[in-house]
Amino acid sequence: MAIADNVAAVEAAIEKNKALANRQDQVTLVGVTKYHTVAEAQQVVAAGVKNVAENRPEGLAEKQAAFADHKDLVWHFIGTLQRRKVKQVINEIDYFHALDRRSLAQEIQKRALKPIKCFVEVNVSGEASKSGLQLTDVAPFIQSLAEFDRIQVVGLMTMAPIDADAAALHGYFKSLREKRDEIKALGLAWAPCQELSMGMTHDYEIAVQEGATFVRVGTRLFEA
Ligand SMILES: *Cc1c(COP(=O)(O)O)cnc(C)c1O
Repeated sequence: MAIADNVAAVEAAIEKNKALANRQDQVTLVGVTKYHTVAEAQQVVAAGVKNVAENRPEGLAEKQAAFADHKDLVWHFIGTLQRRKVKQVINEIDYFHALDRRSLAQEIQKRALKPIKCFVEVNVSGEASKSGLQLTDVAPFIQSLAEFDRIQVVGLMTMAPIDADAAALHGYFKSLREKRDEIKALGLAWAPCQELSMGMTHDYEIAVQEGATFVRVGTRLFEA
């Protein structure tokens, strides 16, 4: 299949799973281009994807240079960001998906020229190898960000374990949704927390059923 067909298939699957869950709200497809060339990324954009994600500063710079004429693209940074790289990245993006520690929040506060839309990353499964806060630490962490006027917590983000079965995935994504609802209900000025960034190639359909508002899909878009 061509890339344009893959994009159409993923968009259709998003709609199908929204309908299954009786959802009328918006789900944004974020195209993850990190393992792919500029030429391949161009096909994804040509197929109508307006949201693009990279996970390394170098990859972001390369793709943004190539798409300098595309002023309508929305840029997402989805990888772990080292503190010393914050300055290079933070003012170039529209969404940051991996806020997971106070030292990073402090550095963003120091370097950002305007409020940055951030997702707090949550390790819902508790796997030792994964970054992100434990569910129980999410509310205190977000409360502690009050002093940082350059950080706007727009939502929560998670990555599910690669080997989880469907039932487990439903459980992980539901937990993140419930935590999102809990934070949203606090009504914090700096944390509207309306969004859910969850779902990748292997699990985005289940994530949509469980309320994802941003799905981050890479591999599936580029399949031959
Ligand atoms: C690579 C990556 C994705 C996309 O993964 P695929 O399995 O290729 O769809 C999504 N989110 C994050 C954080 C990633 O690093």
